[in-house]
Amino acid sequence: MKKRTAVVSGASIAGLSTAWWLRRTGWDVTVLERAEAFRDGGQNVDVRGVARDVLRRMDLFDAVAARNTTETGTVLVDARGEVTAELPSDGVGGATAELEILRGDLARTLLDHLPDGVDLVYGDPIAAVDDEADGVTITTASGRRTTADLLVVAEGVRSRTRGLVFGADEVDVRDLGVTMVFGTIPRTERDDDRWRWHNSLRGRQIHLRPDPYGTIRAILAYSPGDDVLGLSREQTLAVVRERYADAGWEAPRVLDALETSPDVYVDQLQQVRMRTWHRGHVVAAGDAGWCVTPMGGGGASLALTAGYVLAAQLAGHQDQEAALAAYETWMRPLVDDVQDLPRGLTAFAYPQTRAGLAARGVADKVMTSRLLRPVAATLTQVAETDRELPALDLA
Ligand SMILES: Cc1cc2nc3c(=O)[nH]c(=O)nc-3n(C[C@H](O)[C@H](O)[C@H](O)COP(=O)(O)OP(=O)(O)OC[C@H]3O[C@@H](n4cnc5c(N)ncnc54)[C@H](O)[C@@H]3O)c2cc1C
Repeated sequence: MKKRTAVVSGASIAGLSTAWWLRRTGWDVTVLERAEAFRDGGQNVDVRGVARDVLRRMDLFDAVAARNTTETGTVLVDARGEVTAELPSDGVGGATAELEILRGDLARTLLDHLPDGVDLVYGDPIAAVDDEADGVTITTASGRRTTADLLVVAEGVRSRTRGLVFGADEVDVRDLGVTMVFGTIPRTERDDDRWRWHNSLRGRQIHLRPDPYGTIRAILAYSPGDDVLGLSREQTLAVVRERYADAGWEAPRVLDALETSPDVYVDQLQQVRMRTWHRGHVVAAGDAGWCVTPMGGGGASLALTAGYVLAAQLAGHQDQEAALAAYETWMRPLVDDVQDLPRGLTAFAYPQTRAGLAARGVADKVMTSRLLRPVAATLTQVAETDRELPALDLA
């Protein structure tokens, strides 16, 4: 049988998982990454639900567990740093999951274990896509033309290639009104091995989380957010500094440290919803197709799972179109589950007033009480399903 060829655009969790599984099932695979080199950065992500099985099937569960962030639990703290509530983190789920890992470490683990023969091309992204009856022709920015049986768009939430293939009426990008700034900052004596989370007035959150490198991962998340995507790093930090001027707790330290942080990453949370994830010889995977944002949670787990499910359906169907439809049918419920955010979630998560903050404090205490701990633990469940992963025989 003729070898099938795939181009995967994007070398992060979704793209590398897809490349891994397609290669293992006999495809010729080229990965195109827009950046000039592999992107190592990023903060805490977790591997939950069915994605844990995917890692086991890749024989990478232990490799990921070994790069754990070392976080031991999650607590809410007041302005003095006193713990006001402790979120459930026991077992495989909870706020601090068993498999907590930095995004860059997870992506690097996948990269390091790619099967032989995957071609990686950096700095030459797709400029044009021409989908025809017998394959898809991709032209890159440098003018390189490749024809493949399949193009997998795994370019993250702000994918450009998605817009070359799918119409604007098919891609619904919803702004959730939340801005997040992530950065690595020095550890101090006040830090410990828990995720410490402080809610301040006017919808401002401050998070400090340990990492395995002796530094702290800081997150400032606030709503209503600012339009910062077009701004330079200096401009963004100036906006955030103003926002957090009187936010209390560790805000002054975080603001100062972000100025020299090596890896500030800014996100304006946007959900991506697509009516369909495939057209002709093109399919979307990960945030490019369904960004769930940290508000829904589970983006990395879904991205990891997508690679397996796509390869398994392609291996299990003679007809590629039927395989892509089966991939979509399998993934869709997992995505819907986390995209359908409870009404009022933003207002609850980002209280604006003193009364709102007090109500949030009471709710945290109730939800984390002994009686309701099991309920609270289910709130962090993502990528959970009773369905078996589609079968895939690698032999
Ligand atoms: C550098 C980085 C840091 C991140 N930090 C965090 C974080 O701190 N917290 C958090 O919750 N989430 C973070 N994320 C997002 C998180 O990784 C994703 O939500 C999740 O893992 C889903 O992964 P994905 O592979 O679908 O998309 P992403 O991880 O976003 O990866 C998309 C990949 O495609 C590449 N790309 C983009 N456009 C093109 C193009 N036109 N052609 C080729 N390649 C392209 C990007 O460079 C990137 O490597 C980060 C992502 C990146 C890339």
